Amino acid sequence: MVTIIDGKKISTDIKDELKEQVIKLKEKNIEPCLCVIQVGNDPASTIYVRNKKKACEYVGIKSIAYELGEETTQEQLMDLINELNNRKDVHGILVQLPLPGHIDEEKIIRAISPEKDVDGFHPESVGRLSIGQKGFISCTPAGVIQLLKRYGIEIEGKECVIVGRSNIVGKPMAMLMLRENATVTVCHSRTRNLPEITSRADILIVAMGKPRFITKEYVKPGAVVIDVGIHRNENNKLCGDVDYDDVIGKVSAITPVPGGVGPMTIAMLMYNCVEAAKSCE
Ligand code: NDP
Repeated sequence: MVTIIDGKKISTDIKDELKEQVIKLKEKNIEPCLCVIQVGNDPASTIYVRNKKKACEYVGIKSIAYELGEETTQEQLMDLINELNNRKDVHGILVQLPLPGHIDEEKIIRAISPEKDVDGFHPESVGRLSIGQKGFISCTPAGVIQLLKRYGIEIEGKECVIVGRSNIVGKPMAMLMLRENATVTVCHSRTRNLPEITSRADILIVAMGKPRFITKEYVKPGAVVIDVGIHRNENNKLCGDVDYDDVIGKVSAITPVPGGVGPMTIAMLMYNCVEAAKSCE
C-alpha cells in the first residue's frame, strides 16, 4: 500500500515541539525573535511573509515585520541589516526574496550575520553544511529530511536521485542526503537520459520547477518520491513537479502537493529561529 506523506501533520508536530521549547526559553527570559524584511509588494512575497508571521504566533516567537518601499536603496537595506545584526534581542533575520532588481541579493545575503541566518543562505552556512559543521540549513531541504526520518524511511545506503541543483533546494538537498549516507546523484537541465537515471532511485527528490514533469516512466517501482515543486495548474489548483495521479500506482510513498513539502519549509524556519535563540542560553 502506498504511503501518502503528510507534511501538514509533521509540520504541526514540529511546531508543537518548538512551542514547548519556546516556553522553556521564555522561562529563562529569552524570547525568540525573528525579523522579516520585505522590500516592495510582490503579492507572492506578501503571502509568504504573512504565513511566516502566523507560524511565529503559533510557536510563540516574536516576529517583527519591516515592509520597505520598492524604492529602498541597497544602502538603506544594508543599514537595517547591520542594525538588526547588532541587536541582542533579535535572533533571526530573514530578507524575503526576490528583491527588486536594483538591489544585489548576494550582497544582502552576505550582510546577514551567520548567527542570525535562519534561511541558511549565507555562504558560511552553505560551507558549514558541505563540510559537516553545525550551522543553519536551508529550510526546504531540511524539511524533506524530517519527512523521511519521521516516516521511518531508511536513507543510509539508498540510491537517491535529486532533480534540480538550485542553491536553495537541490544543492543543499544533495549535501544533506550525503550526510545521511545515501548514494546521491544530482540531475539538471543538461542531464542526458533523465528517465534512465531517475529510474535508479530508491528515493527520488524532484525540485525542477516544471509542473507534472515526472511521470511513471521516470520512477522505479516501489520508489519514495518527494515532490518539492509548487505550481498552479490550468484550473488554478496547486500541483507539483510530479504527475501525482500518473505515478501513484508505482510508488511506495509520495508527498502530495499541497500538503507535502510545502508546510515543512516554514516549520523548519521556526526550528532555525528557536535554535538561534537557544544559542543565547
Ligand atoms: P530553480 O528554477 O532555481 O531550479 C530548477 C532546477 O531544475 C535547476 O537546477 C534546473 O537545471 C533543473 N531543471 C529544470 N528543467 C529541467 C529538466 N527538464 N530536466 C532536468 N533538470 C531540470 O528552482 P528551485 O530549486 O528554486 O525550485 C524548484 C521547485 O520547487 C519550484 O517549483 C519551486 O516553486 C519549488 N519550491 C518549493 C518550496 C517549498 O517550500 N515547497 C521552496 C522552494 C522552491 P539547471 O541548473 O541546469 O538550470
